[in-house]
Amino acid sequence: MSASGQDVWVYVEHLRGTVAGSTYEMLGKGREIADALGGRLAAVILGAGTQPLASTLGAADVVISVEDPSLAEFTPGAHAAVLRDLVQHRGPRVVFFGATSIGMDLAAVLAGSLKMPLAVNATDVAVEDDRLVVTSQMCGGKLLAEAQIVERPAAVTVLSGAFPAESGLSDRTPQIENVPPPPALDIRMKVRRLLEPAAGDVDITKVPVLVAVGRGLQRKENLPLAEDLAQALGGAVCGSRPTVDQGWLPLSRQIGKSGLIVKPRLYLALGISGAPEHVEGMKDAELIIAVNSDPNAPIFDVADYGAVLDMFELLPVLKDEIEKRKGMAAAS
Ligand code: FAD
Repeated sequence: MSASGQDVWVYVEHLRGTVAGSTYEMLGKGREIADALGGRLAAVILGAGTQPLASTLGAADVVISVEDPSLAEFTPGAHAAVLRDLVQHRGPRVVFFGATSIGMDLAAVLAGSLKMPLAVNATDVAVEDDRLVVTSQMCGGKLLAEAQIVERPAAVTVLSGAFPAESGLSDRTPQIENVPPPPALDIRMKVRRLLEPAAGDVDITKVPVLVAVGRGLQRKENLPLAEDLAQALGGAVCGSRPTVDQGWLPLSRQIGKSGLIVKPRLYLALGISGAPEHVEGMKDAELIIAVNSDPNAPIFDVADYGAVLDMFELLPVLKDEIEKRKGMAAAS
């Protein structure tokens, strides 16, 4: 199969031998867009020793694989240089990146250096009359903007969770095209070590019930209210980034893009607005209940149940009710 100007590319994000879930989400959507454009869907993977990962990308028609020891750890300069070379030589219609720290880093450099249009934080992509129509989230989810892109190639960053990952999973063995890196790759950055959130007293990725607090908590002195509720529920307290930045909770309790990704049975979000960076870390919880005094808070878009309430009115009452019912259950 030869390259065409209607091809859709997905940049494959991976860390420590695991492909990011957002990549499969983009492959699912990418399939739909490639079919609508009459092009191929290509997964572009850069790294060293990525062959086992490439074989999981069967939703794509082809995997474009660039292997080099200098690409083993992500550095924006090296990965952008390889991508720039590939895009210049093959001219796809669009390249999808995750709206992640890595994706945003790369898409901005690529679009800037090749004068490509760039749409960010996409929640939907469609094809209308051979134009790409990208719907993007703005202002932390309060606004949606629509961009129509006719120029090619274009770059789009896609919000994690915008599309189901299942449609990007396939048992098919993809065709893998090995491409050498461009000569004289100018590596100016070196990864010295990966900083991960310190392990805390509780591993919140393994706790089935999480009581999550946000800036709505107002001050550290109010934390015991959430801790009491978490204890009554047999769970633990975690929080959004501002609660960690302000020293109310340790980094090991932060949920989201720069914290941990959790999938508890219950995620009770109290006074959390639901910014994309937070939602990235908790959207896959089995049951999400949100409590927020603002009826327009974006957290309600991902919640299974929501209550427009002052959390301080709810917390003590809810804790007492849970304890009462636990007492009744124990007595019967
Ligand atoms: P706010 O957005 O201020 O929301 C507070 C909410 O509390 C509001 O919705 C308000 O209506 C509600 N509220 C106020 N009082 C009450 C009350 N009495 N009762 C009920 N509700 C009340 N954020 C993360 O969480 N995790 C991350 O890992 C993360 N990584 C990031 C990485 C990058 C690169 C960037 C740029 C940002 C990142 N952020 C992250 C920050 C993110 O963009 C948001 O700023 C943050 O999630 C907002 O936290 P919040 O919801 O607690 O605060």
